[in-house]
Amino acid sequence: MAETIFSKIIRKEIPADIVFESDTILAFRDINPQAPVHILIIPKQSIAYTTEIDGKKDAILLGALFDAANQIAKEQGIDKNGFRLVINCGDNGGQEVPHLHMHLLGGRKMKWPPG
Ligand code: AMP
Repeated sequence: MAETIFSKIIRKEIPADIVFESDTILAFRDINPQAPVHILIIPKQSIAYTTEIDGKKDAILLGALFDAANQIAKEQGIDKNGFRLVINCGDNGGQEVPHLHMHLLGGRKMKWPPG
């Protein structure tokens, strides 16, 4: 299992502002928020990846990430006006932490294309 800063957050060894937790998923506020609501949704089981996510092998877990995103968006009050889900993959994608994570961004109008 790849050891990252997120592993320490999952083990509660370093603090995080946790907004959702289940047996398989943890979600917490990004330390460097890019929107009024910026939450990282991660599987507790480390999925190390750079540019390839195995949709078949990890189908249940990936589905749980989206279910959690929907629930958190409602709880954070950003479901009505909309939000953005982002998974950065690899160097060109801007990925910093090699543990699968989905960014949930909302609370303002997003621009396109992203930077
Ligand atoms: P990415 O660039 O997609 O790999 O996203 C990694 C994200 O993790 C960045 O948005 C960071 O701000 C965020 N991050 C890094 N360390 C922490 C931390 N200790 N607590 C919360 N968010 C973090």
